[in-house]
Parts: sequence; structure tokens; C-alpha cells
Amino acid sequence: MSCIRNKNTEPEQIVRGYLFSRGFRYRKNYKSLPGHPDIVLPKYKTCIFINGCFWHKHEGCKYFVWPKSNSEFWYKKIEENVKRDEANYQRLKALGWKVIVIWECELKKDVRDNTLKNVEKIIVE
Ligand SMILES: [Zn+2]
Repeated sequence: MSCIRNKNTEPEQIVRGYLFSRGFRYRKNYKSLPGHPDIVLPKYKTCIFINGCFWHKHEGCKYFVWPKSNSEFWYKKIEENVKRDEANYQRLKALGWKVIVIWECELKKDVRDNTLKNVEKIIVE
């Protein structure tokens, strides 16, 4: 999926850079956990997913719009993603992990600082 991401933003980099600068140490690509979270903070038993608004269906978001053509295909594909996400979050919670979902739109320049501060608050909470 990396090929369709916006090359300029690199949302994971933004979050990792912030956490690192705030003294958090994380692991990436923690394959042994359900859903392969983008960022894992073992010390806080916290997993962070950075979700694209389209692929993970950010409801009510202006970046999520059902495609007009091939709609049945997209509906099936995206609903499957949503179901898989939900199952992964539940599995992680059952294992005692805190799950934080950050939407890509929440990392746009004007709202990024706020989002990152909030994330930090949830991690240490
Ligand atoms: Zn969004």
C-alpha cells in the first residue's frame, strides 16, 4: 500500500519524530501483534495505528468519499478493511494493549500539533 501514499506527508514519520523528540522510545513493524501496528510503545503497552482516511473509512471526514465508479468493488473492499481493523483492535485490547488510532487528516499541518499533544496525553494517561 506504500505506493499510493502521499509522498510528501509520510504520516508515520511525523508521529515517530514527535514521539522521539518527547523522549518516547518505540518499535516499528512489530509483526507479532495483531494488525501490525505502525508504532508500538512497549513501556506503555500502547499501539498506534496511522490510518488513511479513504482505506480505513474515516466516517464524516472530507477525505472519505465513496468512489462513484466500481462502487460495489470499493464498498466490499473498504468494509472488509473496517471489519479487519475492528477485529485487530479488539484482539489487542484483549491482550491488554492500549490502542490509539490517528487518522491521516489529523496530521495535516494546521491540526497536527493538537493531535500529537493529545496522543501523548493518551499514551501516558
Ligand atoms: Zn480523515
